[in-house]
Amino acid sequence: MGLIPENVIDEILLKADIESVVGRYVSLKRKGANLWGLCPFHHEKTPSFSVNPSKNIYMCFGCHKGGNAINFIMEMEHMNYPEAIRFLGDLYGVEVPDTRGDSNGDSGREKIKRVKSLLTETAKFYYKQFNDPEIGVPARKYAEKRALDKQTLDHFGIGYSPLDWDALREYLEEKGYTEQEMVDSGNFKKSEKNGKIFDRFRGRLMFPIFDSFGNIIAFGGRALGDESPKYLNSSDSLVYNKQNHLYALNFAKKEQSKQLIVVEGYMDAIAMHRAGFRNTVAALGTSFTDSQLKLCARYCEEVVFFFDADGAGQKAAIRAIKMMLEYLSKLSGIKIRIKIAKVPDGKDPDEYIRANGAEKFAEVVRNALYVEDYLLERAYNDNFDEVKGIDKGRYQDDVCLYGSWVPDEIKRSTMANEAAKVLGATPGAVLNRMNSLADSEGARDNLMQAREIARQKENDLRNRNAAASVRPDEDLNAEHADESSVESEKTYAVNDTATEDEIKLFAYAMSLGPVLADQKQIAIEDVLRPDDFSGDSMKALVKSFLSVFDAKRGVSYARMSDFFSRVTINGSAAEDILYRECTKADLAEDVKVKRDYYLGYLYKIRIIRVKAIEEALITRRMYASSQEERDEIDGKLSNLSEYKLKIRTKIEGL
Ligand SMILES: [Zn+2]
Repeated sequence: MGLIPENVIDEILLKADIESVVGRYVSLKRKGANLWGLCPFHHEKTPSFSVNPSKNIYMCFGCHKGGNAINFIMEMEHMNYPEAIRFLGDLYGVEVPDTRGDSNGDSGREKIKRVKSLLTETAKFYYKQFNDPEIGVPARKYAEKRALDKQTLDHFGIGYSPLDWDALREYLEEKGYTEQEMVDSGNFKKSEKNGKIFDRFRGRLMFPIFDSFGNIIAFGGRALGDESPKYLNSSDSLVYNKQNHLYALNFAKKEQSKQLIVVEGYMDAIAMHRAGFRNTVAALGTSFTDSQLKLCARYCEEVVFFFDADGAGQKAAIRAIKMMLEYLSKLSGIKIRIKIAKVPDGKDPDEYIRANGAEKFAEVVRNALYVEDYLLERAYNDNFDEVKGIDKGRYQDDVCLYGSWVPDEIKRSTMANEAAKVLGATPGAVLNRMNSLADSEGARDNLMQAREIARQKENDLRNRNAAASVRPDEDLNAEHADESSVESEKTYAVNDTATEDEIKLFAYAMSLGPVLADQKQIAIEDVLRPDDFSGDSMKALVKSFLSVFDAKRGVSYARMSDFFSRVTINGSAAEDILYRECTKADLAEDVKVKRDYYLGYLYKIRIIRVKAIEEALITRRMYASSQEERDEIDGKLSNLSEYKLKIRTKIEGL
């Protein structure tokens, strides 16, 4: 191995003062000439780890580890000497000449060097294909469609893999690379039939994946059309392990920002860089790993995550957060703040930037929530229903589970305080539950699993109910379809519940018949609506009712019975319950009495509903993250109280 020049090492030790190097990992407090903190190398409760800034060294009186900044990084990051130098050079802006693989006879090193140069050749090949007047046409068309300009394409070294099975193989053969070297690069597959190797990527837009030092170590390929998979990556190889790298980190680290933004895909990362957020990286696998978190911690103090807004993305968010917090609690050595950002309207960052511009997006980044606040919000929103309010049992499960992941005692107890407010419990009781979960990894994982299974069941039930619920006509359900798509992110069980009053209201509506359409007797706004009902079965029945309602004849029981037969109410056959109530309603002496009963139930239900919505909004206001959101909620609240007053007046007039 070639030697790194002495003057470079001196410069690094000069710039990388021990206080700031160690300070990235350990909280230090000054006491006399030295700084003290908890040792990152052995477990302890009182500090015996000291840093001496004037001598530029550290020393632990517990485990007796000590040395300069380079030794510290070697120990902390599990790096060898040249790696640690390179790492510090990166951090403190000292150029370290590349002396790796300078022929010391190390065959492993030599092999890696060959594969890396093969990968660089491969990138050149793809780049050439992309710019070929004929071959590159489909790729260039696609790039244009995705608004990737020439400068961006060149900056990220984007290329094109032609449709051939062995164009790349032939090219590399000509350059003198062996078949083994090609296999080692992760860019080839072996035929089961004849054992020959062929190109892994065909007809794809090719993104070189760099390590943090800027060496090409792998490729990602994006399909140009709908072919599957949409994204294909090099397999793990001699030089690449997807868990240990972050896309675009080589560019992002140059920003010297204290913050890194992590998005899900490389297209998103590129879009972010183009929009000026050059401190963005992308994870390279399906889930974020602890090695990637550690990598982030090398270059920044704060990571802001963007997870996809869909169900899978949200589930991934919780899993990634669990991994990160548990990892951080095991490793006292890493200090990093984790934030979670949400793109409004469930868009991905790329879409949002294109629609709203970079300024607006910067706001989204600024509004990212600290992970603890995000978890509090998730626990609340995931278990909140506009009608039924908060499901306290589930909320408690989620929030205690999430709290148990948080390593920082103060943050955990703050979470317990917030949760206690929602639960109406004492903060101490909530904190106890969090602490006992924190102490038992088994209990924690069991609860996590139970909650995931429960959510899955609720989803299944919801889907089944949506499929089985009354679907007399498509148009009838159009409105319902809209609702469900808006709320599809929430997971709560479809329910067939109905209150006594709701059943009576529906029965009187059936019984009133054409009177319901007579505006002299029943004002238009007093006609029942699906929204007056809390359960999905009743909502569906009311929709069916309104769709078959005839102003002259009312509704036909025969037609309605068709709908009744398809749903349950409170677990029983809807026919049984509704026929009984309708028969009772039919017994009323005259229309006036019937009408008053009908309106009485309607107003009562509407008042109860408004109150529930109000309560929910008030709690939500407590969780609002901006003044804008609070103002919006206040607006809704004032509308609701007006509406309530109106109904009260009507009740008095009955
Ligand atoms: Zn120690």
